[in-house]
Parts: sequence; structure tokens; C-alpha cells
Amino acid sequence: MASQEAHTDVLVIGGGPAGITFCRNLKKLKPEVDVTMLRPEKHSMVYCAIPYALEGLFDPAKAFKRDELVTDSGANLIKRAATQVDLHAKRVVDEAGDVYTADILFLATGATNVIPRVPGADAANIYTVKTQQDMEALLRNINNGAKRAVVVGAGAIGIEQAQAYRSRGLHVDLVDMASHVLPSMIDEDMAEELHRALEREGINLMLSAYTDRIRARNNLADQVVLSNGETIDVNPNRDFICFAVGMKPDIEVFRGQGLIMNSDGIVVDDRMRTNIPGVYAAGDCCSHVSGIDKKPVSGKLATNAVPMAKTAARVVAGKDDEYDGFFNGAATCVYDLRVASTGFTAEIAKQRQINTRVGWGETPSIFPMMPLPGKVRVKIVADAADNRVIGGQVISTLSAADKIDIITLAIQQRLTLKGLSKLSYSAQPWQSFMPARHAIVQACEDALDGLPSRNESFHYSELPERA
Ligand SMILES: Cc1cc2nc3c(=O)[nH]c(=O)nc-3n(C[C@H](O)[C@H](O)[C@H](O)COP(=O)(O)OP(=O)(O)OC[C@H]3O[C@@H](n4cnc5c(N)ncnc54)[C@H](O)[C@@H]3O)c2cc1C
Repeated sequence: MASQEAHTDVLVIGGGPAGITFCRNLKKLKPEVDVTMLRPEKHSMVYCAIPYALEGLFDPAKAFKRDELVTDSGANLIKRAATQVDLHAKRVVDEAGDVYTADILFLATGATNVIPRVPGADAANIYTVKTQQDMEALLRNINNGAKRAVVVGAGAIGIEQAQAYRSRGLHVDLVDMASHVLPSMIDEDMAEELHRALEREGINLMLSAYTDRIRARNNLADQVVLSNGETIDVNPNRDFICFAVGMKPDIEVFRGQGLIMNSDGIVVDDRMRTNIPGVYAAGDCCSHVSGIDKKPVSGKLATNAVPMAKTAARVVAGKDDEYDGFFNGAATCVYDLRVASTGFTAEIAKQRQINTRVGWGETPSIFPMMPLPGKVRVKIVADAADNRVIGGQVISTLSAADKIDIITLAIQQRLTLKGLSKLSYSAQPWQSFMPARHAIVQACEDALDGLPSRNESFHYSELPERA
């Protein structure tokens, strides 16, 4: 059949959170604009849900997004990949050979998993997790009797997978080159209790070690060799290895046309404009700066992709808007502990040559006389030069995400430790600790005054009541 040629006002390449948010917001602001999205996959995925689908908590099909998220906005959805993109002429060819011309291009091609370039890493029983195909292949392995999973990478995605495989009865080895889990989210001193929780549940932690090579026979891995000489044997006919060591931008199709990009992605300004007029980009395919020090930082999170895409939609619709940069609020779970972080850890701040002042706060999660009070622990990180809050970490038996969002807002509003210590909070027996203390406020006071001590043990009856 002859190829077709069509014109659209705005062509969106990519159907993840950035592409979807852009379509919905642009069509809301300017319904008369003709918007077309190209994306290859049958189902756009709720990636964050995949580990829990692997765990078997729900039907895996619940991790599929509905196409109506795009089409109900009035945008056209074409399920094909863009295979040739002329950024200057705004002319795109899809995998079936059909041609699209547009006035504006919005690039939202996201990122793909990194697999380290080590011998044997292309064996057939090595996986990553992102697509529907990844999820289904891993489920097949589990359902076909896998007994061991080696997860390489103890970031949020690796840690959630490790727990999923363990809950399905597999022996799990969790490997990371860092000396503690979640190295881009928390400092070592916050990780100790997470290590204990993972080990208590039977996950074998192999830290301070990276994958040196993978031994494979007939294209099936049977041994992982670590940099410290340790080896992990896997049954090549049954077991699997999963890499969760980071993401790289999916931008090959845009190369060779003068589009400014670096190893983290397409460079965009605070209005999501690339260096080529009429070409915008957002989400994981982009490189951007930290909202804290305005220097480059990685921020491959849906919670960054969405506000970037909103900004792009507003700018394309002719409104004034700008994106402040990545703050990287993120959350995960380690069994019954909820973990969240924002901004810079003290370790990352040091790498960025920022001297820090830190403080800790710890309270029961709810009133201590209530059943199962649990606890919440907060670490606050400030720039020692001006006491401006630049990071926070929370571990809690209740939600950590709501506490971390308070700290993110403080960072965005450039509050100092003193400013955040003035947080006016609420208290109720089932929902918070008592009026006497709030763990964030306590952490700020600790950083400012060194009081109260992080190791202080307390009982509600001994706490001084605030006036
Ligand atoms: C397992 C997992 C768990 C995660 N959990 C969280 C979490 O809890 N919280 C959080 O904030 N973030 C999480 N993330 C990260 C988050 O999913 C990403 O940051 C987010 O999806 C980025 O959105 P995006 O639209 O920029 O890119 P993507 O979601 O990667 O979407 C890119 C789209 O572009 C399409 N595309 C690529 N090339 C082409 C082409 N040539 N032509 C047409 N289309 C193309 C892709 O097929 C896809 O539809 C998780 C990621 C994974 C993998």
C-alpha cells in the first residue's frame, strides 16, 4: 500500500507520562489545535506498578494505561514508532512508512534501561524491567519455576523487584556497587535499618560489588562474577538475572541534526525548548538542571516528567510558564518501612562541593498509646553556608511521601532550617505523633542546635508539652 502523508499542528513522539500529560494539557488549553501522538507499544504502562504486578498483588493487565487518557483529550493516537525524524523540516516517518508534517514537534521518547557492557550480559536469561514484554517475560520465568533471581542495582526499582521475587518464594541476591541500598536517595546512616529489614526477610545483600562478568553457555547465564571475586551460580534453564542500574535517554532517532544533547538527554531550557525552533522536549529523554543549585543533575522520574510536560504545553499554548528544575522527590518501600527522599543527600551534596549541616528527628508515627504506633525518622540536609534546606530523607511505618513533600516544598521555597522549623502542623492520635513534636521540626532543630540528640529515647509521658 502506498505510504500516506498527513499534516498535524503538533506531533508528539512518545506516549509515556510526558507525552500523555502534554497532549491532555495542550488540548485543554487550546482544543482547536490538532495534536497527534506516535507511540509504538500496544499499551502504555504504569511502570511504578510493575514490581507489584510481579509480586502478584493484582492482574498484570492493571498496569496498562487506557488509550483514552490520550484520545479522550481529543488528540489522535497512532501506535507506531517514529523511525526517521527531520527536526528542521518537522517531517516524521513512522515504521509503516507513513509521513507526518507538523508545525511543532514535542519529543517525549523517554529512556531505556542500561545493561552494563560486561561479557555475557547479552545472555537470554538477563532482563530489565520497563515494558509489557519485560513484565510478561519475568512473570513467565516466575510461573515456570524459577528458584533464584539476581537483581543488580539496589535503587528503588531494584529493591522493589527484589521484594517481589522474594515474596514469590525465590532466593534473591541484591547486588550494588554502593556500600548501602538506595544510594541516590538516602545516606548510609539511614540505610542500616533497611539492610536489616531486607536481610530479615531473606534477601541476600551483596554490596560494594559490581558485576565484573557473566558466564554464559549456549547464550544462557549460569554464573555472575562480582568485582570482589564472589560468584553467584544460577540455573541457566530456570533462574534469571535482572539489571536495574539506571536509565539512558532514548534519543538515537534525533541524532545528526544539530540537536544539542548530552549523555543524560536532550538539553532543554526552562520553557522546555530545545535549540531547534519549534522543537520542544520533556521527561526522561531530557537533560536538565537541579532546582537547588541549577547545575546538571539526573532526574528520570515520572514526577519530573509530568511538570516538565505541563510547562511545555502551557508554553506551546502561548502562556508564560517555566520549569524550576529537578528536586527529585521520590519514594519506595522496604517491607513495612516507607522510604522517601528529596533534593540532595549529604553524600551527594559533598560530591557537589556543598558543605552541609544535618539533623535528625524521630518520633512514633502516631500517638504512642495507640495500637502499633510505629515510628517516623527524618534526616534533614542544609547548606552550611546559609542554612538553606537542600535535602531530606524520611523512613516511616506510615506514608513517608507526605512528609517528604513538605520538605520538597521547603526546598522549592528556599526555606532555611529555621523557616522549616516553624512548620505549623496538625496532630491527631491515629494520624500523627503528639502535639509535642513533629519529626521534621525536630530534625531542623537538631541541625540548628544539636538538640535533641538523635539517639534520644522518649516516652510520651516524659515529653515536654509545647505551650
Ligand atoms: C519499573 C519502574 C518503576 C518506576 N517507578 C517510578 C516511581 O515510583 N515514581 C516515579 O516518579 N517514577 C518511576 N519510574 C520512572 C518513570 O516511569 C519515568 O520517569 C517516566 O515514565 C518518564 O516518562 P516519559 O514520558 O518521559 O518517558 P517514558 O515513560 O519512557 O515514555 C517514552 C515513550 O516514548 C516512546 N518512544 C520511544 N521511542 C519512540 C519513537 N522512536 N517513536 C515513537 N515513540 C517512541 C516509548 O515507547 C514510550 O511510549 C519508574 C520506572 C520504571 C521502569
